[in-house]
Amino acid sequence: MTELDASLTSAEVGHFIAGAPRAGTSGRRADVFNPATGAVARTVALADEHEVDAAVRAAAVAFPAWADAPPLRRARVLFKFLELMNRHKSALARAITAEHGKVLTDAEGEVSRAIDVVEFACGIPQLLKGDYTEQVSTGIDNWTMRQPLGVVAGITPFNFPCMVPAWMFPVAIACGNSFVLKPSPIDPSASLLMAQLWREAGLPDGVFSVVQGDKVAVEALIAHPEVRALSFVGSTPIAASIYEAGARHGKRVQALGGAKNHMIVMPDADLEQAVDALVGSAYGSAGERCMAISVAVLVGSAGDAVVARLVERARQLKIKNGMELDAEMGPIVSPAALERIHGYIEDGVRAGAKLLVDGRGHRVPGHEHGFWLGGTLFDRVTPDMRIYREEIFGPVLCCVRVPDFAAAIALVNAHEFANGVSCFTRDGHVAREFARRIEVGMVGVNVPIPVPMAWHGFGGWKRSLFGDMHAYGEEGVRFYTRQKSVMQRWPESIAKGAEFTMPTAR
Ligand code: NAD
Repeated sequence: MTELDASLTSAEVGHFIAGAPRAGTSGRRADVFNPATGAVARTVALADEHEVDAAVRAAAVAFPAWADAPPLRRARVLFKFLELMNRHKSALARAITAEHGKVLTDAEGEVSRAIDVVEFACGIPQLLKGDYTEQVSTGIDNWTMRQPLGVVAGITPFNFPCMVPAWMFPVAIACGNSFVLKPSPIDPSASLLMAQLWREAGLPDGVFSVVQGDKVAVEALIAHPEVRALSFVGSTPIAASIYEAGARHGKRVQALGGAKNHMIVMPDADLEQAVDALVGSAYGSAGERCMAISVAVLVGSAGDAVVARLVERARQLKIKNGMELDAEMGPIVSPAALERIHGYIEDGVRAGAKLLVDGRGHRVPGHEHGFWLGGTLFDRVTPDMRIYREEIFGPVLCCVRVPDFAAAIALVNAHEFANGVSCFTRDGHVAREFARRIEVGMVGVNVPIPVPMAWHGFGGWKRSLFGDMHAYGEEGVRFYTRQKSVMQRWPESIAKGAEFTMPTAR
């Protein structure tokens, strides 16, 4: 624990390569803020291609022995890592809150969801069991096995510095790959803490490495011939470009992008529950979640009743330093993000949406230099407005009024993003139709943030995911392994003579 806390107070966050911390050598660095105070808390090293190469080479050296270890032995290392993640949960959560700004209870929730995936990956012997068919032809058996790819890399966003990397590395490592993580430079410390825990769990050196960095490190990973697969989570323009560049370099890529998640409120819904759900999912983590609800689709008479309650609730949010236990919402992650969100609010006003609650200018006593924005609420938003079409990624909820269920479905299905969606209703038929007709990857019925559990897999549709497979769950196991089919017979069952026809079952 002392060691974990020490890394948080160091002046510069560095890399973790070949089982040991490494200071940056590129001479490039970025500031890491405490968003609640606005102070620069430390800096983070930004890797160049030589540092990336060192991490990838160490991973390539570690790969053959790790891939060869029986899955049960790999699982035992994962069980130790799981125990350490549980033991250091609060240190991880504090590191997240200090650099991201989200409230501590939310950060703890993030670590718990990371732990869920480690628990899933502990079952790897069962997950890697192949298929076997006896007697596909007389005297011939056929089976499939799934084998690891080699060195695989993960590039992750700022908004879940522990959970999103953990969507990737527990499964990748359990499958026998070695993993290089390139976290967001905005909140880099959680990744180093997890690297230390892997080392303590007994993971062989080089199987898990961290290179801190920006675009330069990402480009070096994409171009590196030893990197076989890339998992990316972040904004849509970068996801699309990484998917294309990765494919050009012959790599397997899954690239999860941005979102604009809608919540449909039917007139028959329990409106108190629906409003609670909207407030929590729109303003929780200051709206900086890829599964945040950013559009309330209010059907018919639900409109006025929901909007009146939302105005009241948005004004009552407890916005303060996330370290304070009664905080409901913390600051925005960076000055650049705050400026971007302000720009969207101004744009919404210009486009004619009704700004019912304006979070700009929010002050938190004692934290005058923090990056604050209050909960913001727009009504009468229409599909042509930028605040409707684009991802704002802040505590801004847009209400759109529609006359009926069919119009609500058509609205959601016309959007380019399709990560998560929710519908609040008491009507079983509406719920069933909603789940069947909606063209979105993750669907909630009376559940505002339907993030699938570790064994189900996470992923959106359309421009929210580029690639064929979702993250974690069995899709994750498929992504991080390749199938081999083996067909075998023994000399006793081989008929004499060459066969010139296509082999068929006999
Ligand atoms: P981002 O796209 O700015 O950064 C993501 C990662 O890409 C970071 O590691 C960053 O350093 C790197 N990067 C940034 N610019 C790059 C460039 N030009 N070339 C190569 N790499 C680059 O995203 P962010 O602001 O860190 O995170 C927020 C975004 O992530 C939102 O759009 C959110 O919806 C999305 N997100 C999606 C999911 C999902 O599951 N679909 C989950 C979490 C976050």
